[in-house]
Amino acid sequence: MNSQNKEAKSTNFICNVIDEDLSSGKHVGIKTRFPPEPNGYLHIGHAKSICLNFGTATDYEGYCNLRFDDTNPSKEDIEYVNSIKKDVEWLGFDWDGDVKFSSSYFDKFYQYAEELISKGLAYVCFLSADETRVFRGNLKEPGENSPYRETTIIENLTLFRKMKVGEFKEGECVLRAKIDMSSSFMCMRDPTLYRIRFETHHQTNDDWCIYPMYDFAHCLGDAIEGVTHSLCTLEFQDNRRIYDWTLENLDDFNVTSRPHQYEFSRLNLEFATTSKRKLKLLVDNNYVNSWNDPRMPTISGLRRRGYTAGSIRDFCERIGVSKVNSLTDISILESSIRDDLNNSAPRSMAVISPIKLQIENYPEGKIESLQAPIHPQKLEMGTREIFFSREIYIDKEDFLEVAPNNKYKRLAINKEVRLRNSYVIKATHFDSDKDGNVKTIFCTYDPDTLGKNPSDDRKIKGVIHFVEASKAVSAEFRIYDRLFLDSNPAKFDDLSSSINPNSLEIKNGFIEPNLSNADVGRAYQFEREGYFCRDSESKELVFNKTVGLRDTWNQ
Ligand code: ATP
Ligand code: MG
Repeated sequence: MNSQNKEAKSTNFICNVIDEDLSSGKHVGIKTRFPPEPNGYLHIGHAKSICLNFGTATDYEGYCNLRFDDTNPSKEDIEYVNSIKKDVEWLGFDWDGDVKFSSSYFDKFYQYAEELISKGLAYVCFLSADETRVFRGNLKEPGENSPYRETTIIENLTLFRKMKVGEFKEGECVLRAKIDMSSSFMCMRDPTLYRIRFETHHQTNDDWCIYPMYDFAHCLGDAIEGVTHSLCTLEFQDNRRIYDWTLENLDDFNVTSRPHQYEFSRLNLEFATTSKRKLKLLVDNNYVNSWNDPRMPTISGLRRRGYTAGSIRDFCERIGVSKVNSLTDISILESSIRDDLNNSAPRSMAVISPIKLQIENYPEGKIESLQAPIHPQKLEMGTREIFFSREIYIDKEDFLEVAPNNKYKRLAINKEVRLRNSYVIKATHFDSDKDGNVKTIFCTYDPDTLGKNPSDDRKIKGVIHFVEASKAVSAEFRIYDRLFLDSNPAKFDDLSSSINPNSLEIKNGFIEPNLSNADVGRAYQFEREGYFCRDSESKELVFNKTVGLRDTWNQ
């Protein structure tokens, strides 16, 4: 283990548990797993769990499985299975052996259910869903025993086998654990273990019409795979009782080395939702275009937006792992990507809201080729060719007829600015259309200022960017704002009340010609504008804004 890992260990309570388990000899090696339900795309919260599970296994030279807890065919889809595998790989993690599926243990689960029935610990119950709810009681009142609780073992085995072969209708009966209807933990009041679903499963097709409940399958999946430390989020704290009960009552698993569960706090991210159900609603109701819409806090959305796998792993490291629930500041995620891209992204100039500028003392028909550094702090990255001529585009935002004050650093009539990577210009006058909008700005340039200050010590305060007009390449820019207006949208049952109607702004402008074949997935810093990457789903030149150059949320 390297020193960096040791440092990460000391701040993580799960590592303390593992250290103790290894030194006491309870375990000789570590096995973890990431166990998604394939009922949606992975989001940034899952990244926390992925980094923790795979990262812990790596730190201890152990193993981590990717296991789909696929026990609910009505909500699952092979599309989700494929996207999850892709996202875990993209994040840079490698699972042990083949991908695992809970569904490949359905035969074993069934045998374990029969074992519980044979021990008098499970029974087939014919109460309706409504009756079951009434019988369950509530947090203040104990529940009441089901009238089917005392059915004989033989009869229960017969009924369960009938359930399996499809002799009962969906909802007609379920298999329940016989635990304690007055337990203070609601999940222990004879929870359902199996229900009937006549659904085709993405892995097992029509082999089964009974499916195990998540709580029954989850702990068995871990135990079958020899997971040592089952890491999950705090909302499963109570469920640990049913997991322990199940394993303790099965002969195969009533041993000290069986999996133990440790809970950590979920990641909740400001201005985002990390509920798959709610993310699906956003897609289904067309608030966003798809699961990988760059506004989505999904791994695939972040990837398309231009986030790198390294920046997401760095973010997960920065937020750490604890048992305290909190709302994580979105600026932590943004500074992770900014730090990464500031270091690595090639620089370029893009004019997002173009306006034409004519340099009247520049020769007509002449085009100059200039060299600009790809990264001003990393000259070893080389240079790129840019062009200069009588007509260029600058950004509308960079011109005002009259400078508002002395601090103004952009272009105004009778003011000088430097054009990035080229000359100093001075605005003289402008044309406007009938509505008063500036159409063309006219300037003069100082030919003696290419790569140097004016010879007479004039101070040039501002630098603006530009693209030469005749060689400029048209591009679309997609500028994103927060998807939600409220920093904690989770507090709204109906997410639509907090949706930001202006979360996407589309602009048409120009890029340097050397970006006409920009790689998909490659990040660029458009100088003075922010970090952008070419959209992976568009054939045309479309650039998604990943993040601005500075944190502007709080201004
Ligand atoms: P959702 O509520 O969005 O459906 P889930 O917990 O049901 O999430 P799973 O597919 O079961 O989603 O999640 C797989 C693993 O990822 C689980 O171990 C779960 O604890 C963990 N996980 C899910 N959401 C978060 C989150 N926001 N932060 C950290 N871990 C999470
Ligand atoms: Mg879940």
